[in-house]
Amino acid sequence: MLQYRGYPFTGAVLRPDGLVRWRCTRRGSYGCNVWIEVNDQLQVLSHHNHHTHAPQRYVMIENGLYIRM
Ligand SMILES: [Zn+2]
Repeated sequence: MLQYRGYPFTGAVLRPDGLVRWRCTRRGSYGCNVWIEVNDQLQVLSHHNHHTHAPQRYVMIENGLYIRM
């Protein structure tokens, strides 16, 4: 899972150009069609569409693990 600006992303897909595309986790329940593209330095290079819902608060409790507050 990846968190960006308060929104959790999942479903990483490695593209042929080396970027990884992540989709918002609320795609199913909210019909949210946001996706971002991240390079191997975890820098978000592009952000597409707008969220249809408010951000959620997650706190990192361990490397790569988050809990919802
Ligand atoms: Zn979203």
